[in-house]
Amino acid sequence: KSVIYWMRMADLRIHDNRALSRASVLAQEDSIPLIILFIICPQDYLAHGVGARRIDFMLRNLRSLKESFFSLNIPFLATTQAKMRGIPSFVLSFCEQYGANTLFANIEYEVDELRRDIKVCESAFPKGIQVIFEHDKCIIEPGILLTKQGKPYTVYSPYQRSWLSVLNNNVAHHLEECSSPKANDESIKSSELLVPIFDSTVPFAVEGFELADWDQIRMRESWPEGEVTATQILERFLTTKKRSSQLGAVDPLSHGSENCPKFSRIAKYASDRDQIGSDTTSRLSPYLASGVISVRECARATMQLSETCMDTDKSSGIKRWMQEIAWRDFYINILASFPRVCMGCPYLEKFSDVVWENSRSYDNVEVEAENVQKWKTGMTGVPIVDAAMRCIKTMGWVHNRARMIAAMYLSKDLMIDWRVGEKYFMEVLVDGDFASNNGGWQWCASTGTDPCPYFRIFNPHTQSLKADPSGNFIHHWVPELRKVRGPDLHDPSSALADKLGYPRPIILHSEARERALRRYKNPGNM
Ligand code: FAD
Repeated sequence: KSVIYWMRMADLRIHDNRALSRASVLAQEDSIPLIILFIICPQDYLAHGVGARRIDFMLRNLRSLKESFFSLNIPFLATTQAKMRGIPSFVLSFCEQYGANTLFANIEYEVDELRRDIKVCESAFPKGIQVIFEHDKCIIEPGILLTKQGKPYTVYSPYQRSWLSVLNNNVAHHLEECSSPKANDESIKSSELLVPIFDSTVPFAVEGFELADWDQIRMRESWPEGEVTATQILERFLTTKKRSSQLGAVDPLSHGSENCPKFSRIAKYASDRDQIGSDTTSRLSPYLASGVISVRECARATMQLSETCMDTDKSSGIKRWMQEIAWRDFYINILASFPRVCMGCPYLEKFSDVVWENSRSYDNVEVEAENVQKWKTGMTGVPIVDAAMRCIKTMGWVHNRARMIAAMYLSKDLMIDWRVGEKYFMEVLVDGDFASNNGGWQWCASTGTDPCPYFRIFNPHTQSLKADPSGNFIHHWVPELRKVRGPDLHDPSSALADKLGYPRPIILHSEARERALRRYKNPGNM
């Protein structure tokens, strides 16, 4: 007999993990072993555009988890299933093989994942296997917050107000820490049935998703795996000062300054967070996206700080940061409430017919527009966009404001379908997360819930002046412009660009703006 916890891609941790915690409690009560199953499915990653960096991060975390589970005498199997449709029957036979009559998992809200889990339930129940799913990804689970009309919120501000009030009304409940799993009896390490699981290893790569050596090294240095690391990154954000000349390169563990609560990153978050050129935000997104740290733990630590802090600067930083956590919940709630966003559809269906410039047809062969390549490689001739795109390509991460500027430039200035950008971000981001990525892209392209209206079109040059006033970020990522100072850096003339070997802008913003307004106003027309 046993209890099984089926770990998924977004809950790669031991601590404060609801399904794991409940599975462990049951195993202890019934004095039976707890077994952990993780299924690696290349076809699934391909179908959902999961990037190789996210997979490498996943495998590294799984290896670290395997060791931690081993020290708790908990057998942990990470096994590969080539086909998605084979997963339900595999899970069931695994339960049968190990005599499990209860299977625990945290819910994944995406459509294909829900369909898969329904199949698991359908085949498990007739065999007397109970399947228990837990909400674990959000602070306030999807479906709880509704408008006065009983509908899901589609606008962030009222959602966020309601989110905060529900949270504040019962902080203890929403942020309750789950107990950590207890060790299995030592003797199970010699159980004939379980020895193969104890002896199994986590693969170093998934076929079709291998990283180049340089990329692998950089990802490992920039985004070290493990729960301890994630907690240190949280600590760094809550207690240490930002580095004043951080160039956009990421080294989340390099503190760069001593413990300094009064001027900590969170204390300054409300005023400084939009500065792209310095190290102002938490950089926890890869850890939150893969569940290496629990979002409740982040909120608990942050709110505890506010209890001890009378400093208004700091409390406003805390409030602002919690609002970002609410954005994360908001987009997960949208995904769960409007599954069509999982199927490549714009939330606002009226924008389905906007005419895009994605590709050109030559001799009946579709060729990706040259501008897409220029955008991906940071060669558009708009320094802030190029810096953002080179940073993403190299680091697998970039600041939120930089993501917004690059996304709006693609979808409005270049009139390239936002789904092209959404797919590319998923491919290269180490924090690639369907709900936040889709939400961010649809916001920028004005096709989503709570969209910015279609006529709000960022001027990338003025955005650049505001977000990178020191020019640090551009200087770092666009070395061609390293010697340029002042406004020219944000909008170099063609003559200057030619002289420095930097590309001329591929489109004039004023003309691009007119085209975008025309096309969005009358979708279907040129
Ligand atoms: P902090 O500022 O420290 O914020 C703390 C946490 O709050 C983040 O780690 C993240 O989990 C959450 N958060 C912050 N801002 C947002 C937001 N706007 N929407 C949803 N959650 C947010 N975030 C991802 O995690 N994965 C993605 O794939 C992703 N794609 C994006 C695509 C676009 C076009 C845009 C505009 C935004 C995207 N974001 C995505 C949201 C945001 O850019 C990142 O979460 C943020 O930059 C991560 O940096 P940080 O951890 O330092 O954030």
